[in-house]
This record gives sequence, C-alpha cells and structure tokens, in this order.
Amino acid sequence: MAWGNLWMAAMLVAGSVKAGEGAGVAQSGAAAGRAAAFGPANPFYAASTLPYQTPAFDKIKDTDYEPAIDAGIAEHMKELDAIASNPAAPTFDNTMVALEKSGQLYNRVTQIFNGVTQANSSPALEKVQEIEAPKMAAHDDAIFLNTKLFARVEKLYRQMDSLNLDEEQRRLLDVYYKKFVQQGAKLNAADKEKLKKMNEEESTLENQFRSKLLGATKEAAFHTADKNALRGLSGADLEAAAEAAKARKLPGYVLPMQNTTQQPILSSLEDRATRQAVFEASWNRAEKGGTNDTRALIAHLAKLRAEKAKLLGYPNFAAWNLTDQMAKTPEAAIQFMDNLTPASAKNARAEAAEIQELIDQQNGGFKLAPWDWEFYSEQIRKAKYDYDENETKPYFEVWNVLQNGVFYAANQMYGITFKERHDIPVYSPDMRVWEVFDANGKPLALWMCDYFKRDNKSGGAWMDVFVPQAKLLGTLPVVYNVANFAKPAAGEPALITYTDVTTMFHEFGHALHGMFSNATYPFISGTNVPRDFVEFPSQFNEHWASYPAVFNHYAKHYKTGAPMPAELAAKIKKAATFNEGYIFTELLAAAELDMQWHTLSASAPEQKPDPFEKEALEKKNLWIDEVPPRYRSTYFQHIWSGGYNAGYYAYLWSEMLDDDAYAWFGAHGGMTRANGDRFRKMVLSKGNTEDLAKVYRDWLGAEPSTEPMLKDRGLE
Ligand SMILES: [Zn+2]
Repeated sequence: MAWGNLWMAAMLVAGSVKAGEGAGVAQSGAAAGRAAAFGPANPFYAASTLPYQTPAFDKIKDTDYEPAIDAGIAEHMKELDAIASNPAAPTFDNTMVALEKSGQLYNRVTQIFNGVTQANSSPALEKVQEIEAPKMAAHDDAIFLNTKLFARVEKLYRQMDSLNLDEEQRRLLDVYYKKFVQQGAKLNAADKEKLKKMNEEESTLENQFRSKLLGATKEAAFHTADKNALRGLSGADLEAAAEAAKARKLPGYVLPMQNTTQQPILSSLEDRATRQAVFEASWNRAEKGGTNDTRALIAHLAKLRAEKAKLLGYPNFAAWNLTDQMAKTPEAAIQFMDNLTPASAKNARAEAAEIQELIDQQNGGFKLAPWDWEFYSEQIRKAKYDYDENETKPYFEVWNVLQNGVFYAANQMYGITFKERHDIPVYSPDMRVWEVFDANGKPLALWMCDYFKRDNKSGGAWMDVFVPQAKLLGTLPVVYNVANFAKPAAGEPALITYTDVTTMFHEFGHALHGMFSNATYPFISGTNVPRDFVEFPSQFNEHWASYPAVFNHYAKHYKTGAPMPAELAAKIKKAATFNEGYIFTELLAAAELDMQWHTLSASAPEQKPDPFEKEALEKKNLWIDEVPPRYRSTYFQHIWSGGYNAGYYAYLWSEMLDDDAYAWFGAHGGMTRANGDRFRKMVLSKGNTEDLAKVYRDWLGAEPSTEPMLKDRGLE
C-alpha cells in the first residue's frame, strides 16, 4: 500500500526542508496583529500539562492555531537570531544544542496543526492552512539560508575532531552541516541569488505541472453514450459512470482516469475497442498539445534541476539529492535496480505468455496488448487465486486484529505492553488511545489511532507524532496512526479486509520506529530518517501479519471465535504473489525513468520526452510492449511535483531492506524476544543518530541483499 501513497511519505519526511517552496512570503501586518494577541489563554502558549504533553484537544479551538503559528515563527526567528549573533565563539552547546532547543512553540503547534488538518479538517482550518502554509514553508527555508548561523555550524564542523563529541553529537553536527551545504549555504552572494531564483522557478514549474496534470487527467476521462461499449461493468460501476457523466453534464457514461498508466476498470471491460480507447486516453493524457500538455514543461524542469545541481557543485540532480540518503549515490541506486531487472522482466514475460495462452484458448485471435493485461490477468486471478473478501472479513474485526495481532506481535517481539486510556482528550470520537509500557514496566509512549474514513480526512494511511521523542527536551513520544477503513454502522462490528490488516501492521511499524527512538536530539530522532530508509521499519512490520504464530492468534471469527479455515488462509497467502512480474516491472521502469531524467547533466540539451523515455527504457531492457511503466514521464507526478524526484527507487530500496531483514529473522529462530530486542537496540532505537547504511550493516553483519526480495515477490 505504500507504492502510490505520496501523502504518507510526505508526513514521514516532514522534517526535511525543501528549498524555494513559498520563499519570499512576508508576514503581513494583520498576521502580526493576531500574533500580538497570542497569550496564556491560548492552549499552545505553554507545553501541555497532560500526560506525555499530549495535545489538549478538549481546549484547542480552530481559532487558536493561526495566532500560535505566527507567534511560533516570530519566537523561533528571535531565537535563531540570538544563536547566530552570539558574540561568544561557537561551541556545540551555544550553537547546536541551542538550535535543537529552539522553535518549541513553533514545533508544538505545527505538529498538531499538520496532523489535524490532514485527518480532521474543517472549512475554518482550511482557511488557516491557506494563510499559514506559505509562511511555514518560508520559515523552514529561513533556517538553512541563514548565513551567520551557517558560519557557526561550519566552524564547529571543521573543529569536529577536537570538540570531544560523542557519536550522536557528531552525527547531529554532520547532518546539519550537510543540510546547510545541500541548500546552498556555501555559495557566494551572487550564486545564492541565482539559486533562489532557480528554486522559485522550480517551485513554479512544479505547481504548473500539478495543475496541468489535474486538468489533463480530468479531460482524459473516457466518455461514451453507448452502454454496450461498457459491457462487463458491474451495476455499481455503471451507476458510478452514469453519475460521473451527470456531474459533467454529459449524456451517457464517463470513466474517470486514475493517476497510474493501468486503469483498474480495464479488468472488467469486455469490449476490446473500449479497453484500447481507455488505455490510450490514460497513456496520452498529457501529450495532446494544448495547455495541459506537460512535455515542454518536464523537459525544462529536468534541465533546470540539472543546472541547479551544477551550481551547487554536483554533476547532476540525483547526485545532489542522494547525498543524505542511505544509497548515497545515483550509481548505487541504479546498480541496485539493474540487478533486479532480469528476474523481474523474465517473470513479466512469463505472465504475458500465460495470458496469451488464455487469449488463444478463447480464440481471441490477437496479440496481447497492454490494454488487455488487466482483463485477462483478472480471469487468471479468479481461476487460480480467488477468495471472496466477504468470506475473510468476519475473521478480521479491527479491534481484535489490533490487540490480538498488532499489539500481540509487538509484545512477543519486544516485550512491550498496552493499556487503554479513556482520560486522554482526542480530536474525534473515532480515536482510541493506549499507553505503551516497556518490558520493565516503565512508560514508553502514548499511541493513538484514528482508523475510520471520514469526509474531512485525506485518503490513505499514515503515521506521525504530536510530540517527538527527545532526551534533550525530556519528552517521550506521542505517536498516532491514521487510516481510512470503512466505518461500521452503530452497534455493528468493524470488519476489514486483509489489505487493511497489513496497513495496520505497516503503520504500527512506523509507530514502533517513533516509540523506540532513543535519541537525545529531536532533529535526528525517530522517523526523521532518509526517504530510502523510512519505509523499512513499517514494511518490515507487515511481515508479521502473515507469520503463522501471529496470524493464528488474531484471525478468528468475530462471532464464534473459530480460527480461519486453513484453506482460506492459504488463499490469502497465495494471492500475494499474483501478477508480481508485471507489478514489479512497471515499478522498476518508472524508477529507472526517474533516475535517467535526474542524472542528465547541465550541459545536456532539453530532451524530447517521448524518444527520451523510449531510449531510456530500451537501454535498461525495460521497454516491453505489454508492460509499460507505472507512470509515463508526462504524468509522473511523484517526480515532477511530489518530492520523489530522484527518489522513486526508495520504495524498492526499503523493500529490499525489509525482506532482507525478515529473512534474517527466519534464519535466526523467527519471532523471539532476543531477536526483537537486538533489532530494537541496533536499528529501531537509532533514528538518524548514525549513518543508516552502517546501522544496517552492523545489525546484519553484511550488506543488504536483493535475494529475499525477489523470493518474497515470487520472482526468483
Ligand atoms: Zn509507510
């Protein structure tokens, strides 16, 4: 479920700063006036006095955020100025520690504001967001563009070896210094001005891409008045198509486009000509000429990013962007992907052959094309792997899965225990709160969940913190998980799908990463880790959902308590590797495309996207007619406006780590307290306090291997 979820990743890398976004937004006089009104009556004025400093949701009103954020920005700027202008020579204490202690009001209010606007928004909050989001973006930039501040950090960085620092302190200094440099702190004044302009242009192009794509995707919807062209659709799908047409004031039916190349609706469309038309509408959505064509824009954006990297002293954008990642260089990421390609493509081709056989059996009389894939693979899935979700759901009652599955697994692994609390204020009655205790009985964290879909909640699932763990600030973490499970009617049980079950384990894996954090400094604590590492603990935790000792402990009928029949359980497991050749190959193709766009040098001319794309994939043996990339360059939102530029590989990279780690457990006795404690101590507790390639190597005793990943996906 992590593959397409931009949002979840955005929450998790909230600590990362993106230069240029919203820069130059000045604080308005009106805002200053509101900020002046900020006082002790505002619930953000001081740290919450509730257990774990958890937010006082019973006191916080929508109107409290704006003055608190404005006051937070003003206070933080003052603190930063005091650090930067300190007449005393820089010391670790008066600079780095002071930095880490600064911005507490700002952090306090924005952590909560970001959480609530995503999960429980309102028109009033949206209005505040409109006003405050650009200010917050500009404020985040201001820190790393502060020349005087950088001079102090740089001086300390140069003296690092004589400062007598411990390992975490060295890491903190290193991470800050590199972040400053990455954002252009070492440039001269003229180049800084150039960079600022480039950042502004980049941000503008990203926004333009977003709105062009939105328009293109909307326009690309397939429209027909001929019901017969849609045969195969279910009654509900037809009704939705008629509704969509009505909403657009069109007669007949409209099939809206999803953001991926393949369209789920293709799995049920029986008419081949309709399938082809729907697929081509998706594939060509942003290449039709006119205002929503993105070709010229992405060519220009790729060139601009290459030029920006050059200004910052790097051969290409990817090299710049990967400096603080676990992979470190584009070469490492590319090598990693290249190694996966043969097995993946081979399996995709085998699946294509199986589908062709089915087409021939049915006397189709045509060669498999990409628009046929979903339709025939769905038939194969039904014949070989099918199970009815209505059969499995009664075994997955959400609170039972949580306590006898998710909590149980964490208890078996790490010895932690959970006690529900009813006295903690929440922002929605859907929420439940547990206090988490360590194996020795000591309080560890507060964990909250907000699992059910509401109209005022963003889609997907994610984890974040209201209060981060930091020994320096004396805080234990307040961590939460949000999801969008179907809410049951009053008095009915919440029965969920197996996909939902794995989502619960996934998000709780992020939560464990946040709760086990044992860092001194907040900047490098918990899930504030590189993008290519952050999904590792969550995807790793997903594995326990199907681990027999765990699965059998929670997969019980909500009424009778009977265990799930073995045959049904086996079907769930078998379905997991279905169509993996295709899925993996389309991902790899997209990830390779991303890397090739972002390893262009500044001297390369602006590319023509279509031939560039074809050549890029041919070079990697990934131009396979029946298996197009998951996103074509012209609608690859992740890399042009989603923050995953030169970063799409991170999904695959994290997966390598989680499968590799799970294989280690398998080879060392599985789910045991000893294995769990070792993993917690050497990996989960570290946050970003050490180089993560080293953290992983120290724990495993070797470099990560891609073999378990290929095996897990059935691609050996
Ligand atoms: Zn995740």
